[in-house]
This record gives sequence, structure tokens and C-alpha cells, in this order.
Amino acid sequence: MLDTAQNLIRRAGKQLNLSDEDIEQILKINAEHIFEIKLSSGTSLQAYRVQHNNKLGPYKGGIRFHPAVDLDEVRALATLMSMKTAAVGLPLGGGKGGVAVDPRTLSRQELEELSRKYVQHLYPHIGPDKDVPAPDVNTNATIMDWMVDEYAKVSGDTTKASFTGKSVTNGGSLGRDAATGRGGVIALSELLKAKGLASKELAYAILGFGNVGSFFATVAASTFPQWRLVAAGDSTAAILDNAGLDAMQLSKLKAGGGRFLDWMQAKQITNDALIGLPVDVLVLAALENAITKDNMANVKAKIIVEMANGPIDETAHDYLSSKGVIILPDIISNSGGVVVSYLEWVQNRRGENWDERKVNSNLKRYLTEAVVGILSVSKEMQVDLTEAAFIQAIRRLNG
Ligand code: NAD
Repeated sequence: MLDTAQNLIRRAGKQLNLSDEDIEQILKINAEHIFEIKLSSGTSLQAYRVQHNNKLGPYKGGIRFHPAVDLDEVRALATLMSMKTAAVGLPLGGGKGGVAVDPRTLSRQELEELSRKYVQHLYPHIGPDKDVPAPDVNTNATIMDWMVDEYAKVSGDTTKASFTGKSVTNGGSLGRDAATGRGGVIALSELLKAKGLASKELAYAILGFGNVGSFFATVAASTFPQWRLVAAGDSTAAILDNAGLDAMQLSKLKAGGGRFLDWMQAKQITNDALIGLPVDVLVLAALENAITKDNMANVKAKIIVEMANGPIDETAHDYLSSKGVIILPDIISNSGGVVVSYLEWVQNRRGENWDERKVNSNLKRYLTEAVVGILSVSKEMQVDLTEAAFIQAIRRLNG
């Protein structure tokens, strides 16, 4: 993962004729905090915070609780965060944190103890002007609420601007839940506009109908009724209805813990079949490496929106690009979450609470400018949109 992220940076750096030293400077990680957290039960857990680059502003990036967390993964994710914040034009840097733990093995008290101890270890290195963490895999608003409370206790800072993704009653922002999916819809609509397809009817499929995928579908249904959701998949099965699925109904099913395997109101297909459907747009919102050399030749969509992080591996990316498939890159299309995190940080620092309309209109501005920006770089330098996004980021980081 780290290799892939670094290769993307090297490729873009070469396009910009940067020297090897300049490229190494961008790859360089500023600081790594590696520590052990001892719970009162006696369990010891390995914890990390990697701060990649803060040239544009405080480090920003999630904290992941997962057994597979290791230093290389955290380094890769921190590096990609710097690229994402820079590509979207936020005054923030990139960082990432993690603890190698399966949180399902912890009681609620242990989870709180872990969250608070993580902050006690890190607190000299984080804060509203230094490094502002957020939720990631297996961390959520409750965990951010514990962390911000612990940070206030040890530092005296009461702005709550030291963490984002908090609950709305505790300084979190309205609109954060839907932000990543909404950002993807905005990004796709800008791309379609640029291609002269804005008002055209289109059929699309979503692989991964979770938090991001379901908000993508419901926001799309309310803003672009000419986009028809024909298939959706979760980890159990995919469902297909060429006449169109009801995004709101499916979103309610998933919110209630339902599975597509049990959904009998549409035809059941496999996720592999979903990936090979002759749709106009394929939205990848499940996990990394959904499309690799094993299934890349099956793809028939003309446009792919990367909502998950790294859903198309390098080989498949190059193959699909060479076939003329347009890929909206993850660091742009899934950046809605970090944009609204940034807006939460701004609100906390100013002591303001914005209504959802204001949050969404700011989100739209950032995403629209980001897509217009990479389309222009892509045209200017004759590169695909992924390379254009990295070029855009590196220009800002190297400026
Ligand atoms: P989630 O767990 O809510 O949803 C993931 C969905 O994918 C679930 O419906 C799951 O059933 C499905 N899934 C899992 N494995 C699958 C498989 N093999 N085939 C088909 N479907 C499968 O997670 P999420 O928060 O929606 O995140 C999805 C992706 O987006 C992740 O890669 C995440 O890193 C990325 N992302 C999320 C955010 C955010 O704000 N949540 C921001 C940026 C990027």
C-alpha cells in the first residue's frame, strides 16, 4: 500500500519535472509516534500516529482500531491524506493513527480507557494547531467525544477543535454523516457536466452499500433523478433491477441491519456480476482492491467513481485507463468527509454552529473546484484524472 502511494507521487513528480530530491522531500514523513497502551486488564496494545506533512496546515487524518493496523499501513494512509487535503485545496496536512486491536474483543469501558490513554500518550503532539484526528475504521463519534474530553482535561483547551467527527451535540458538524457520499455525487455531477452529459439519463451500480454507498444513492436520488440506480451490493449479495432500485428503501433496510441476500424484491446477482454490468457508471464504495487483474477485463462501465480508498489496484487502473474508462480518483471523490471535518474544525475555532445548508454549500464549492481543477490539469498535461489529482496536490505542496 505504501509502495503504491509512493509510486503515484513519484509518477506525478516526474510529470512536473521535479528533481529526485524534491520528490523525496514530498515522500518524507515528518514524525512517527509509536507507543504501547497498557489497559488495566493487563492487555498491551501497539499504537501509532504518523504525521506525514504539515506544510499547508495542521496534520489531519483518522484513527483506526483494527487488528491489521501496522506502521506501513499508517504511513501509507498518512501520505495519502496529505495528497487528499492538498488536492482538494484545504489548509491542512496529512496524518493517520491507529491501534492494532479488534475492538469487538473490548468492553465499552475498555474501549473508553483505550481512547483516553491514546490521547494521554499523544497529547503533546496533537491539538487544534498541530494535528487534528478524526474517526476511521471502527472508530466513531462516541470515541471522538471521549478523546476530545481527555484532550481538554490534559491541555485545558475547551474549543473542541482538537478532534473532528464528534457527535453534533458535542461540537460535531451537521452534514458530516452524509458528507462523503454527497461529495461523491457532486464530483460525479461535475465530471458529467464537463463531458456534456449533465442532463442525460444514466444507469449506475454501487458496490458496497454501507455508510458511503447508501448516502451516495440517497443524495443522488434527491438531486439527480435522471440517474437510475440499477444494482447495489453488500458483503452478502448484490441486487439488480433495470427499472431502478429505491435508494431510500434500501438505505432503511441497511440502517436496520438488513442484508441484500434476504431482499426478494429484486433479482439477486453476485458482486462479481455487478462489477461486470453494462452500466454507465460504477461506484466502488466497499473496500480496497475490488478491481484487480483478475476481474478488470469484465468491467463495462464507462465511468468509475472511487469512493472506497484504493478500490482499483495499479495494474487494473492502468488497464482500464488504456481502454478509455474514466476513473474519478479516491483522493477527490471520497474527500467530502475530510472537507466537512475541516468545516467542523473551522466552526469549533470560531465558536459557531452552521446549519446544514451552509455546510453543504461549502462542501459543494470545495468538490466542484477540485474536479474542475483536475480536469484542467488532465487536459493541460494529457494525463488521467488520478495522475492529475496527484499533480494538483504536489503543485500545492511544492509551491
Ligand atoms: P461501511 O462498512 O459502512 O460500508 C462498506 C460496505 O461494503 C458494506 O455495505 C459492506 O457490506 C460492503 N462490502 C464489504 N465487503 C464487500 C465485498 N467484498 N463486496 C461487496 N460489498 C462489500 O464503510 P464506509 O464507511 O461506507 O466506507 C466504505 C469505504 O469508503 C471504505 O473503503 C472507507 O475507507 C472509504 N471511506 C469512507 C469514508 C467515510 O466517511 N465513511 C471517507 C473516505 C473513504
